[in-house]
Amino acid sequence: MTPLIEVRGLSKTFSVSRGMFAKRATLNAVSGVDLDVYKGEVLGIVGESGCGKSTLARMLLGLLPPSAGTIRLSGKDIWSIPRREIARRMQPVFQDPYSSLNPRRRIASIVALPLEVQGIGTPEERRAKAIAALEKVGLPARYADNYPNQLSGGQRQRVAIARALITEPEIVVCDEPTSALDVSVQSQILNLLMDLKENLGLTYIFISHNLAVVEHLATRVAVMYLGRVVELGTTAELFRNPRHPYTQALLASVLTPEPGLGIPEAILGSASPDPLNIPSGCPFHPRCAQAMEMCRTVVPKPVNTGSGFAACHLVDGVADQAA
Ligand code: SF4
Repeated sequence: MTPLIEVRGLSKTFSVSRGMFAKRATLNAVSGVDLDVYKGEVLGIVGESGCGKSTLARMLLGLLPPSAGTIRLSGKDIWSIPRREIARRMQPVFQDPYSSLNPRRRIASIVALPLEVQGIGTPEERRAKAIAALEKVGLPARYADNYPNQLSGGQRQRVAIARALITEPEIVVCDEPTSALDVSVQSQILNLLMDLKENLGLTYIFISHNLAVVEHLATRVAVMYLGRVVELGTTAELFRNPRHPYTQALLASVLTPEPGLGIPEAILGSASPDPLNIPSGCPFHPRCAQAMEMCRTVVPKPVNTGSGFAACHLVDGVADQAA
């Protein structure tokens, strides 16, 4: 099957200031990512904050140029496709519905904005489409003339979803779409997203740090660590038999009895990953309980695991040869 999106060797670096008298440093936000996204799937992208998930999402949306590598949308280089066409075919739903909606616009006008930008329809037609889109996401027409501050967090995220869907995109990039919401409304929004996916035949790229959510929604999962995809597989296989020690540690964290405790230090150690100072060899080695001498110097290559790959010396058998 030809992928809808094909990502090869994608990297993004930023030059960041370290203070007035210090030399600027290079932050490797995304490094050499290869990914395929297939029509109709939900590709989950997981990892701790700062692992490059959101930078990857912004590059996929064509909002941020890569430093290296390619992104192809239906076989065409994304940078050769007019910005408007990308926006029509691919739409984002971001984490924070408070900051992503213009507080001075009425709801119908916010939802209709992508049509206005694309020059589609008359103002009356755009308003009618906006009201239909609001109803599709469970907001009655009476909200059309409200302002964002008159709505709850969950209602605002419904508005953001209606705005994303109004151009009838094929792909929706959901970047932590429920993490700013109360727990009580999170499942409503997730169920809405899945219903819309089924009814409209959408493809989702679903970015989250919440593995339970990803396990529930995704068909395949990519695990990111310090800008790289360290493991990729079908959701069933990855959750049943995680091959990379980082994935194993993340999954163990889901078993933490108290929600909100985060990732237990006992499993990952206290050294937080620093994208300004990526370790040599396997970037995970300072935190890996199974690290070997070679992990300090040799970068592990992705190894086929059947349903995807894992980039770890324990998986590729090089460790056995070196022993
Ligand atoms: Fe751990 Fe080494 Fe595998 Fe990296 S390559 S995950 S340090 S065992």
